[in-house]
Parts: sequence; C-alpha cells; structure tokens
Amino acid sequence: MPTSMLLQGGTVLVHDQNDHVKATQADLLIEGNTIAKIEAGIKPTAGTEVVDCFDKIICPGFIDTHHHVWQTLLKGRHANQTLLEYFPSGNFVSSMHTPTDLFWGELGGALECLDVGTTTVVDHAHINISAEHTKAAIAATVSSGIRSVFAYCPIRRVETWKPFVLSQDLLTDWAMELLQELGSKSPFGDGRVQLGLAFDEFFQPKEVIANLFQKAREAGVKVITGHYVRNAIMPPTKTIEVLHSYGLLDTSILFSHASNIDADEAALLLKTNSHVSCTPSTELQMGQGDPVAFQSKLGIESQCSLGADCHSNNNASIPGQMNLLLQSSRANYSEEFNKQGKVPAKVYKTVEDAFNLGTIAGARAIGMEDKVGSLAVGKIADLVVFDASSPSMVCGAQHDPVAAVVLHSTPRDIEMVIVDGIVRKVGGKLCAVDVKAGRDMWVGEERDTLEWKDVAKMLVEKREALQEKLGKIDYEEATTGTIKAWHLDETSIAEHL
Ligand SMILES: [Zn+2]
Repeated sequence: MPTSMLLQGGTVLVHDQNDHVKATQADLLIEGNTIAKIEAGIKPTAGTEVVDCFDKIICPGFIDTHHHVWQTLLKGRHANQTLLEYFPSGNFVSSMHTPTDLFWGELGGALECLDVGTTTVVDHAHINISAEHTKAAIAATVSSGIRSVFAYCPIRRVETWKPFVLSQDLLTDWAMELLQELGSKSPFGDGRVQLGLAFDEFFQPKEVIANLFQKAREAGVKVITGHYVRNAIMPPTKTIEVLHSYGLLDTSILFSHASNIDADEAALLLKTNSHVSCTPSTELQMGQGDPVAFQSKLGIESQCSLGADCHSNNNASIPGQMNLLLQSSRANYSEEFNKQGKVPAKVYKTVEDAFNLGTIAGARAIGMEDKVGSLAVGKIADLVVFDASSPSMVCGAQHDPVAAVVLHSTPRDIEMVIVDGIVRKVGGKLCAVDVKAGRDMWVGEERDTLEWKDVAKMLVEKREALQEKLGKIDYEEATTGTIKAWHLDETSIAEHL
C-alpha cells in the first residue's frame, strides 16, 4: 500500500476544461505521489494521515519557467542595476564560484522556491565551469526535494577579469561528454529532476546549434531554453525567426523574456507551439521592455508562463510575479486611455488570467500539463496549502480565493508545500533536507540531513568568502569586456533622453 494523506475540508482550486478555476469545498486524497480523489466526505482508511484544512486554500503548486537557482550568494547586489550591469556582477561571476559554493547557492535557491510555493522550476543553470560544478548543483537540487528541469548550460568561463577575457571554447569535448553522461543518469531524484538544455549563443552557425540540439535530444532532453531580449543594446538577431529557418523551432523550445518581439515572431510562436517565460521583476527593472504575456497586440498569452529569473534580484514568489505582471499591464492599458483624455470602462485582464500563467500554463511550457499545473485526480500531488485566515488573506480568501492568492498572499501565508506526494514545508516551516539523496552526483557535505538554519548559516559564511573575491573585480573593465564579447551596441546607452 502506498502512503496516503487526506487534506480534509479545504477550499480546493480546481481548473475546468477551459482553464476556469473553480473554488470547490472538498477533501483531497493523496496516495503515494498521486492525487487519488477530490470530493466531499472522503473517509480516511487506517494509516492515512489526516490534515485538517478547514479555512485553508489548497492550490496547485506554482511553476516557475525561468530561474537561475544557483544565484543565492549574490542576493542584494543587483537592486539598482541595469541588464548590462548585471551581466558581469550576476552572470559571469559563476566563474568565481567553487563547486561547494554552487552546492550551497543552488540549495538555498531551491529551498527559497519551495518556501514560496514553487513546486516545479525550470533552472537555467549557466554554471558549467567544470563537470563538478554542474554535478554539485544537481546534487543540491535533488536534495532539496523540488521538481526541476535542470537545464544544463554550456558557457564560456571568465579566464581573466582584467583584461576581461572569456574562454573561446564553448562546446568543448568535455562539455558534450558531460551532456551525454547526465543524459544517461537522468532523471535524478526518483524522477523529479529531469535534464534540460539551456543555450544563449543563437548567433552560432546553424550546424553548431542543430548538432547541439540533436545531442541534447539523444541525451533525453525534452525542454530547450534560452534567453531572448530584443532592445537597442542587444544584437539585432531575430532568434525566433532564425531557429524557425533552421527547422528547430518546436514545442520543446522555451524562450525567456522574448521582450519586444514583433508580430511575425509572435505568429511563429503560435504556429510552432513554442513557449515564453515572462519574468516581470527583472524585465521591468532592467530595461528589457514590457512583459509580453498580456500584450494584446501580440496575442501570445497562450504560449506564456512566468518565472522569477534571479532570486539574487527579487524574491522567488510566483504569485508575486503574477501580481506585478497584472498590475503593470493594467497600468499600460489605462495609460493609453489617459493619453486620449479617457478612462477604461473595464479593468484589463483578471486575477484568473494571472493565476493560470503561474500554474497550468507553466506546465504546458514544459510539456507536463498531464502531470502537474492543476489539481485533478490522477495528476502528481504537487500542491500548496494557504492559510485563509492569515492577516493578509482573511476575508479575501473567503470571497475570492484566486484573488487572495494573486493579490493578497505572501510566502508567509503558505503553510504547507507538497512535491511528489512528499511534504517539504509544514506549519509554515521548511522540512529538513535529505543530503544523502544527492550524493550519487556529488559528495561534499558530510551531514546527512540539514535544517534550514544549518543551510542559512552556511549561506552566510559562503557569501562572505565569495564577497572577498568579488570585491576585487574591476566591474567597469568587465562591463566594457562584456560589450565587446557579446557584440552589444554601446552607442545605444543614454544617460537621459
Ligand atoms: Zn535569466
């Protein structure tokens, strides 16, 4: 008999066939890792653990489709940075991390995700300095208990910071062999962690990209993700069109941002059922352009989902991203009316539209909509329990639970998080981490289990040691070097208009 758990008497948020979310008073029975029943009055059998969910909202676990989970040790330093400033201080400093740093950074990031109710994350892991670096991060992901598409990312490491020199070899023999090795071992962690591919050099020749994609597919990769931003400083390559012309654009492709794409590229996304992850916090801050998900002129909402991108810059909460996207889109919408001396008759978009981007649409973006992203019998038990009587949520949760999740909730209101039928947060506190679960991939931490306070202590220590090194970098030199290395258009940078 599988272990079973009965969430009794909650408000269950259930999607219908048209993606409408119905708040249903019901019990939810989990058997093993599967949702076995959602109905009123389920009688627990002997041995079933019963959890009283009176005045609780039972919600699908959130799906974050673009996140650099390793970046915990960098938190706080990008608060007032543009995208260009972020490149050296947030992106390239993976080269300054040891495998141990990456283990702790990744573990801290995955645990933050779980704490804020993210049960599945697409991890754009641009950390492949060596095989050991990548394996340390996979070990931490497995140990954390989160569900992940670990998107292995061949990168150029920083060889010297002054002068700023990046390695010339990107798809080296060892990097390709590692892809193959990871493929042979994937999925990791009882199937929770599957291998994906992340790639950011779409200006490479067709045969290089096609060969990499083919090797990735041979390794079992089902999701290929890459950054794509069009704005004045970025190279003018139209990545969506380019991949389509190579015959490589299909439903497995997930772009992060796709900021400022035009109607032709939007049409290609729709035609090929490829996907986009919008990350409102970083896009709005770093001058990337308005998030595309709710832009009515593009009409690609069906292809969009949400990501937190950098928890080094903003917290990892997906409801937080729903909130930010919804309200910024409403501001843009009403501004058009304001310019003409009018006001809109109706508010733009709904809380349900935003909620769906962070749940079922996220599942579609990674081809897992039959398994996660909504609560239904037969799906995997990845879910979140909110306290409907918390100071933030009370009254809102009873009136409109979806509005309460999108606009009123904070991570503090999340009492319980379950991934793959296993409780990872309970009573508002993260459960202990099983370090043993990741040891197949990397051995570097002797303790078998870790409480959050142990993890936090290590994070503070590792951050301090890393800062010793990062404090010595000449970021001006590194920024100039980045402009050259990535063919960015320096002439587009303006102090003011
Ligand atoms: Zn990113």
